[in-house]
Amino acid sequence: MPELPEVEALAGFLRQRLVERPAAGGGAAVVAEVGVGAINVLKTFDPPPSALAGLPVTGVARHGKWLDLDLDGLHLVVHLSRAGWLRWSEQLPTTPVRPGKSPLALRVLFDDGEDGRPGFDLTEQGTHKRLAVHVVRDPRQVAAIASLGPDPLDDSFDLTALQALLAGSRQQVKGLLREQSVLAGVGNAYSDEVLHAARISPFAVSGKLDDDEVSRLYASLKDVLASAVAAATGKPASQLKDAKRAGMRVHGRTGEACPVCGDVVREVSFADRSLQYCATCQTGGKPLADRRTSKFLR
Ligand SMILES: [Zn+2]
Repeated sequence: MPELPEVEALAGFLRQRLVERPAAGGGAAVVAEVGVGAINVLKTFDPPPSALAGLPVTGVARHGKWLDLDLDGLHLVVHLSRAGWLRWSEQLPTTPVRPGKSPLALRVLFDDGEDGRPGFDLTEQGTHKRLAVHVVRDPRQVAAIASLGPDPLDDSFDLTALQALLAGSRQQVKGLLREQSVLAGVGNAYSDEVLHAARISPFAVSGKLDDDEVSRLYASLKDVLASAVAAATGKPASQLKDAKRAGMRVHGRTGEACPVCGDVVREVSFADRSLQYCATCQTGGKPLADRRTSKFLR
């Protein structure tokens, strides 16, 4: 699932191709056609996606893990969710997009003034369809965007801001970091990475972290996310998934050696997912108990 760094890089990638367009001599690309392959990804019906045809792309932004294409005042807002992805092509197929069982959910074709068919497909694998597309006049009309917490890479997100969102919380820090209304853009992968870098147990209670731990968490949030953004920036959309995986030190690396201390990376269930951590770096050498069986007792 793409998180803050990948969506940030995707936004930059699209900005370069659709807004700045140095290769095309500058100037905004204009939407030629929007094809819907999976009607259930559309979460709004007015204005319809067809209203985007003829509009220039005036900006591309990120809100948390949401991608926002500004089409001269109308916004195409996308949440890729767990299995969704954006595939860019300079030459999209000419076959019409029809609702069906293919992973193709939405196709946006741009007019390049010549014979090319540049644009992107939004695709989603698997049976759990969670990719979400909104066409709105203001991105804040999407409730999940309006309720987003602060962006950890925003300059205004300082140590005091982190202290404020941790204070008094009885939630485990792993869960808190993933909560989009608390902090925008961090998901399952980067929360594992940030906690590993900060040497904090994923099960630590947020409100009970001491000053030292909060400072380490703050520094790790900024460092891990900023380095991931730097690593992803400039990469084509097709390489972002691999770049994300390559940058992970503990997430998705169960059984491998911790790059810091050499201990084995362990896995434990958390909510509906699993998390990875290093016991030596994060939990004083003591493996965490798997709460899969006991979560109903709380
Ligand atoms: Zn370690």
